[in-house]
Amino acid sequence: MLLLLKFDSKTIKKPIISTATLETKALINILRANVGARRGEMVVEVDDSKAKEVEEVFRRFGVEVIELKDAVVKDEEKCVHCGLCISICPVEVFRFDENWKVVADTEKCIHCGVCTRVCPCNALSLPIHSL
Ligand code: SF4
Ligand code: SF4
Repeated sequence: MLLLLKFDSKTIKKPIISTATLETKALINILRANVGARRGEMVVEVDDSKAKEVEEVFRRFGVEVIELKDAVVKDEEKCVHCGLCISICPVEVFRFDENWKVVADTEKCIHCGVCTRVCPCNALSLPIHSL
């Protein structure tokens, strides 16, 4: 399960990730972090069997938690298969198929948002827009 965590000025300074790990014994894999002095966002990966427990710890500390169930969406009518998203995605979500059409393996998406900003046809979108 991928979780988007949103920290505000109160929660940003607390050792929440380590507390959640110690309390639940879950392995929390940080896929993306954008953390400043006053607020921050993080995408973490947690085993499905531990996700609810971990979420409870985050929420107890006042962190906003959003389950990321839907990954990047590609509008097939807009896509011209230029391949730009293939070169820019950090986790190789996109590839050419045998007919040189760009296809997406959306399960790998870590919601970084880079592809949505570079696609020349506005064919890519994320269900939740972040920082
Ligand atoms: S960058 Fe946009 S138009 Fe180009 S292949 Fe990717 S989705 Fe299609
Ligand atoms: S949002 Fe980031 S990780 Fe997801 S497909 Fe786009 S570039 Fe790849």
